[in-house]
Amino acid sequence: MATYTPPLREMKFVLRELFDGDSLKDLPGYGDFTADVVDAVLEEAGKLSAEVLFPLNRSGDEEGCTFENGVVRTPKGFKEAYKQFIEGGWTGIAADPDYGGQGLPKAINMLVEEMICSANMAFGMYPGLTHGAYNAVKLYGTDEQKAMFLPKFTDGTWSGTMCLTEPHCGTDLGLIRTKAVPQDDGSCKISGTKIFISAGEHDLTDNIVHLVLAKLPDAPPGVKGISLFLVPKFMPKPDGSVGPRNSAACGSIEHKMGIKASATCVMNFDNAVGWLVGEKHKGMRAMFAMMNTARLGVGVQGLGLAETGFQSGLLYARERLQGRGLKGAVAPEKPADPLIVHPDVRKNLLTAKALTEGVRALVMWTAINLDRAEKAATPEEREAADDLVQLLTPLVKSMGTDVGFEVTNLAVQIYGGHGYIREHGVEQLVRDSRITQIYEGTNGIQALDLIGRKMPSHYGRYLRRFFHPVQEFIEANAADPDMEGFALDLAKAFGRLQQAVGTVAQKALSNPNEAGAAAMDFLNLFAYVAMAYLWARTAKVALAKQNDDPTGFYKAKLKTARFYMARVLPRTGALLSQIMAGGDTIMDMEDSLFDAA
Ligand SMILES: Cc1cc2nc3c(=O)[nH]c(=O)nc-3n(C[C@H](O)[C@H](O)[C@H](O)COP(=O)(O)OP(=O)(O)OC[C@H]3O[C@@H](n4cnc5c(N)ncnc54)[C@H](O)[C@@H]3O)c2cc1C
Repeated sequence: MATYTPPLREMKFVLRELFDGDSLKDLPGYGDFTADVVDAVLEEAGKLSAEVLFPLNRSGDEEGCTFENGVVRTPKGFKEAYKQFIEGGWTGIAADPDYGGQGLPKAINMLVEEMICSANMAFGMYPGLTHGAYNAVKLYGTDEQKAMFLPKFTDGTWSGTMCLTEPHCGTDLGLIRTKAVPQDDGSCKISGTKIFISAGEHDLTDNIVHLVLAKLPDAPPGVKGISLFLVPKFMPKPDGSVGPRNSAACGSIEHKMGIKASATCVMNFDNAVGWLVGEKHKGMRAMFAMMNTARLGVGVQGLGLAETGFQSGLLYARERLQGRGLKGAVAPEKPADPLIVHPDVRKNLLTAKALTEGVRALVMWTAINLDRAEKAATPEEREAADDLVQLLTPLVKSMGTDVGFEVTNLAVQIYGGHGYIREHGVEQLVRDSRITQIYEGTNGIQALDLIGRKMPSHYGRYLRRFFHPVQEFIEANAADPDMEGFALDLAKAFGRLQQAVGTVAQKALSNPNEAGAAAMDFLNLFAYVAMAYLWARTAKVALAKQNDDPTGFYKAKLKTARFYMARVLPRTGALLSQIMAGGDTIMDMEDSLFDAA
């Protein structure tokens, strides 16, 4: 069976030893989060994930959500688990104490979210979407809206959704047709159909509050004419209880490849009462503000699934006996050796480990800067941290989810036919992970964001926030005999990235299709270099500590770092070649020739 044990030792390493995560408590509002408090939060989240959510993962997938007479039911056990979840205060851990939350640093919250996704990604969708709605109202809502909705999101009794997608538009939201007609009392009547709405309808909470993108009558065309509205399922009463039903209803739920316990709904708004959030026609700005955190959250979903895939593959590779080691029997007392002796299986396991831990380091680097971007002491520090978050967010979303898919597939490969059949629960991880590469801006769109927006931003200022520390690290370690190999490998891949930046920037000036053709390869090249930098830093920490460590944790880190440099980082060579090949072979093919016969 698929297995999951919260990787607390690894998480604490990344938080404290690779980065100085304990210093988060020095930021305003985080004073209570001393190391022992953080440890207690992580341990409790781990317990909840492994003992309550993980046992429901398989049954939730088998049963799925059901839809009958407009009512959506989550699978058996979800209601009870959600009750336990909100009683433990988990919906509010990262929320502002002013609204009843616990104000946990975002970086620590990402680790909690990782564990929830490892255990049961479909379950995690419900509080995850609520957290997104919380962020939108907190950033752009009126004081009245904040007072009405934020405490409910925080205590988890009401949940939230993000209603962007329509049948004819997903990526290109400028095409949306949902309308908002202003009323004399300041509200609007919202009409239109939204599809693929996660948690649009379910039986876990007393109310569901939809954040809906729609156009006002005087809206300019395209994305500049989109406004954001708050549309509750039940009209809230001033005392915080729920009143009459609003005309926002679920028309059906989707039958889909994975996350079957997460209800994906068609939502019909038929003159539903809604209220503007933020300024009119500025809905995309509000959406983007919350999307950054949401995109990191989706990267974390990929990471969480990768962790479960890796752990499951490792357990199986140790237990399953098949064949003999190529240099002779490793376990002669047994009828055959365990799978783990075979080089190809070991390579799969190490690839899974190196990628998963590499992405976790990338997530933590970004998340700690997310906290600093909001709370660091000086404007310069806040700007530097925010620049890095802007740059790294598309990498986390895209590479995090690609790694989720790659590693869960590797787990299936390690299980062989037993991975492909349903019994062991490993194929579910692949199916669940697939959507993460698509929603919250497809990975292709992340690549365009990186190359088209983030790279040229402020004349390359975001890029320099990454390039400078990497260059400094290489220079500082190139002469250290223990670190030399890591520094050299990093320098080589970093050179490839610099070459790609120069080439793409130059070619794109005369032909924007060149940027589009290079975008995905460029993002991947960038992400592998970023992980190489973090693996090299990991190696430096591990080198200093490996001799006083009876557990072998640091030795494992060092050996995995070497594996990453030798067996994963060379992917950057192929990526650079593809980028240098340019877009001609892609664009020269006439549309009509694709199926020429
Ligand atoms: C399970 C599930 C849950 C979801 N949850 C939500 C939710 O809660 N709320 C919500 O609003 N939506 C949700 N979505 C919708 C999701 O965000 C969209 O499916 C996604 O944004 C892509 O839109 P699309 O499916 O219309 O694909 P399209 O936009 O039609 O894109 C199709 C393909 O073309 C590519 N493409 C499109 N435009 C460009 C371009 N300009 N340049 C390069 N490539 C391009 C895309 O990368 C993609 O590969 C969910 C979807 C699913 C399946």
